[in-house]
Parts: sequence; structure tokens; C-alpha cells
Amino acid sequence: ATRDIKILLLENINQAAHDIFRKQGYQVESFNTSLPVDQLIEKIHDVHVIGIRSKTNLTSQILQNARNLVVVGCFCIGTNQVNLEFAAKKGIAVFNSPFSNSRSVAELVLAEIVCLARQLCERSMEMHQGTWNKVSAHCSEIRGKTLGIVGYGHIGSQLSVLAESMGMKVIYYDVVPLMALGTAKQMTSLNCLLSLADFVSLHVPELAETTNMIGQPELAAMQQGSYIINASRGHVVQIPALIDAMKSGHIAGAALDVYPNEPVANGPLFTSQLNSWTEDLVHLKNLILSPHIGGSTEEAQSAIGAEVGEAIVRYVNEGATTGAVNFPEVRLRPLTLEEDNHARVLHVHQNVPGVLRTVNEILSEHNVDKQFSDSRGPIAYLMADVSNVSTNEIENLYKKLTATPYNIATRLLY
Ligand code: NAD
Repeated sequence: ATRDIKILLLENINQAAHDIFRKQGYQVESFNTSLPVDQLIEKIHDVHVIGIRSKTNLTSQILQNARNLVVVGCFCIGTNQVNLEFAAKKGIAVFNSPFSNSRSVAELVLAEIVCLARQLCERSMEMHQGTWNKVSAHCSEIRGKTLGIVGYGHIGSQLSVLAESMGMKVIYYDVVPLMALGTAKQMTSLNCLLSLADFVSLHVPELAETTNMIGQPELAAMQQGSYIINASRGHVVQIPALIDAMKSGHIAGAALDVYPNEPVANGPLFTSQLNSWTEDLVHLKNLILSPHIGGSTEEAQSAIGAEVGEAIVRYVNEGATTGAVNFPEVRLRPLTLEEDNHARVLHVHQNVPGVLRTVNEILSEHNVDKQFSDSRGPIAYLMADVSNVSTNEIENLYKKLTATPYNIATRLLY
């Protein structure tokens, strides 16, 4: 029963998620911080669900203490803090929320385009330091200017729409052909985009091919007096090359939200590990520096709470793994168990030959209405809706399935 589901929420998870879990009748225990390892080990022992953000490390050492855990919700983008492979091998699905903050990033970038074009952050800094410096030289409207978007995914495409509504012309470059929104145009090469854009904004994922994607040759290929914005990942731009291009005046302004070595905690910048070029960066003119806040809004936080919260409920109540980061993605139609003698089988097993035959032999005593299975590396997951199974046969079915040699985790919903 859903009221038996125990959830542990750490690191001040958004209210939207609490509301979703309470509505389900789950038992929720929550903490505003992460927990010390010994307490975490004690708490994780009995819970079915754990919700974390970036500061809780779910190592194999911690996960092996979990007896009932079926799902981990990372209420953030990254999942590096969880040993995903170990979790999968224990039959624990992990969900995150990769796209809930796309709009927030796109809005920030749009604001930065205006700020760069008007040297707004520079003027504000001067006023804070007591100087009135009214200038119009090299300041411009953004209307009619060309924005080059590199990576036309969730964020890049949102930005495309916002920028066009401000009167910009949009061009984009992506490794896959993508439908243009509005009157945007896809470019056939990165260099083509760089040579045509007044503003370049980077929205590619962190991959081997995107590491150091923008270095000296790419900056040189950009127009004299153009601007560049990086709110994607820190290793996409080579910072020393950017510093040189800005010092020479070839690049008129830049905005950075992400860095190769980001501090792990808020605090003084110079004692952090940001890098040897921190000193150079802070002295450059018309360079907006922000501490990786592209997706940091109340709206994004509540969207993350809702997205991960709903994914967890779908997995706990129905077994659907759509969007899981370490599990095969399997989903059957929403579960209706009103009819008697129906059950849903959720069977996580090792991906080896013969398992389905064994499982189907066990299921064949009943009527299999629908089933679906998929694998991901060493793990496979089967969902099956069976009818003609009476309540007193459920326990037997469960015992038979868990006794199969390659069983990792089995649940029956009825
Ligand atoms: P996405 O996966 O939706 O889109 C990325 C796009 O980049 C895809 O269309 C893909 O085809 C394209 N792409 C991949 N390799 C490419 C290459 N070599 N050249 C050109 N295009 C390439 O991702 P998204 O949600 O739009 O996120 C984009 C980036 O923003 C990611 O790096 C993400 O980590 C980062 N991000 C930053 C913040 C922040 O706070 N600053 C917040 C969210 C996301």
C-alpha cells in the first residue's frame, strides 16, 4: 500500500515534491541538509525512496546498506554523486531532472546579451565604486543583430524564440539537423556561424567533442567586436584564449556562467580553486561573471521538484522507468487495478540468456495481458500485466520469481 512507502528527503528538497508525495500518502522524513555518512547509513536501511541533491554521495558503501530501496531521486541535473552502476546492479533506479531549468538559462542569456551590448554591468560596477560614466560609444541595441546559437537543444531552442521576439536574427549550429523555430536558420558548420554572428551563445552538452570547442582559432573566426556567452559547461571554452581575444579587443564582451574548476562551496573566490587565470578574468572589461546560476531560479527548483517527484511516483506505483539514468526505459499503460485478479509484475534481472523463458514459464500459469522488457548493459527489466491471478496466488508468484537464478529485484503491484 502507498501509505507503507517510506521516503527520506535530504538537502531541502522543494515543496512541490513534498506535496506530490504527501498526496500519495507516502511517509516522508525530510532534512534541510545532507547527512553525515554514519547517519545516512542508518537512515537508508529501511527507506524505499531517497531524494537528494548534489551534496549527498550515494557510494556503493552507503547503497549496500539499503535493504528496501527501490529508487533514488536526484533533484538536480547531475548524477555523479551516485554510484549509478552499483545502484542498477542492486535493482535501484535513479532519476534526475535534466531539462527543468531550460527556460531559466535561456532568460539569463537573453539578459546577458542586452547587458553586453550596453556594457550595463560595467556601468553598474562603476557607479557602485562612485563613478558616473555616461557613454554611448560601442553600445548598441540588440534589434537586428545576429545571434549564433551553438547547440539547438532544450536551452538553445528556447533562446532562439526569446531572441527573435526581441528582434534578433537567429542562426544556429548543431550536429544533428533540427527543425528551425520561427525564422531561425541552421548553419552547415560552426565556422560559418562564428563568422556571421554578432553574439555567439554556447548550449552544447559536455562531451569529448565539445571540450575546448572554442579556442584561439574559433575566437579568431568570430567577427571583430563580437560577443560570446558560455552558460553550458566550463570546459567548452578555453579561458586563456578568451582572455587573449578580449585583451586584444577582438572580442568586445563575454559572459561566463560556468568554469573548468568550479568551487564546491560559496565563499571567497581567490581562495577557491577556480584557476590561475581568476586574476586575469576579474580585471577584464565587459566580462560578466556569474557563479553557475543559469538554472538557479525558484521556478526551476519547483519544476525539478515536480518532475523528479512525479517520476518517482510513476516508478513506485506503476513501475515505469521512463527517464531513468541507470535503468532500461520500460513503461506499460497506466495501471488500473480495479479489476480483481490482476497484478503487475516488475522484475529486474541480470541480462543473460534464458531469463525470459524462465519468467514466462512462471507467468504462464496466469493470463499475460501485456508485457514489455528491455535491457541496458548488464541489467534488464521486465514489466508484465497478468490477470487470472487470485490474491492468495500473489505470494507464490512473488516467491517463484525471486527464486529465479538471475533475479535482482522483483515487485508485484496488485
Ligand atoms: P540538450 O541536450 O537539450 O541540447 C544540446 C544540443 O547540443 C543538442 O541538440 C545536441 O545535438 C547539440 N550538440 C551536441 N554536440 C554538439 C556539437 N559538438 N556541436 C554542436 N551541437 C552539439 O541540452 P540543454 O538542456 O539545452 O543544455 C545545454 C547545456 O547547458 C548543457 O551543457 C547543460 O549541461 C548546460 N546547462 C547549464 C546550466 C547552467 O546553470 N548554466 C543549466 C542547465 C544546463
